[in-house]
Amino acid sequence: MKTTVLLIEDEAAIADNVLYALRSENFEAQWFNVGAAGLEYLQQNPVDLVILDVGLPDINGFELCKQIRQYSNVPLIFLTARDSEIDRVVGLEIGADDYVVKPFSPRELVARVKVILRRQQMDTQAPIGSPTSTNNAAPSCAASSAFNVDIDKRKICYRNQALQLTAYQFGVLSLLLSQPERVFSREQLMDAVWPDHQESFDRAVDTTIKQLRAKLKAIDDTEQPLVTHRGIGYSIDNC
Ligand code: CA
Repeated sequence: MKTTVLLIEDEAAIADNVLYALRSENFEAQWFNVGAAGLEYLQQNPVDLVILDVGLPDINGFELCKQIRQYSNVPLIFLTARDSEIDRVVGLEIGADDYVVKPFSPRELVARVKVILRRQQMDTQAPIGSPTSTNNAAPSCAASSAFNVDIDKRKICYRNQALQLTAYQFGVLSLLLSQPERVFSREQLMDAVWPDHQESFDRAVDTTIKQLRAKLKAIDDTEQPLVTHRGIGYSIDNC
């Protein structure tokens, strides 16, 4: 079965190029030029990845992403004309997996699609298109320490509960857990987890740490193992 990508983009010329690039790499591609139609399609049809323009005529792409995230963990890439860090950070904070700034090369976009899908396929804890996490649905796993990492299955348990993590969250947390109490600088985390990003993108690390803290806190709000070392970086407590 072909991998399906949903493209929501109002500029036909851009959409044509992206659709052509996706189809020539054997993806099934669906295109909608307004947010409402794209959202409706997504609610009725499982797709493997969403490419979402931020500037749509009927709804802001960030707002649409928030709506999608209420019921789906589907991987999502934003397209935007605005190359401001604030936009990128907002995009990641609301749960995008990547960000492509216009003008972009459709082939580069398709390469990113492939990277994200590969990571996603390895992540057995967040199957493509699965509903967003609820603690009730999270499978339990036995562990004697606070964390239990299974790199092969890309699964991390905290206090016997499986964490529902994006690829970047998994990358940061598993790296910190590989050497408890060692302080990793932002640059080190960046290089290890976002190797395909060419520009400096330090706030992505901070954003991911913030998201991880919230996920750990949701399981146990009595302590916070992620430690900030001001001006240096982050570490995780040995627990
Ligand atoms: Ca647009």
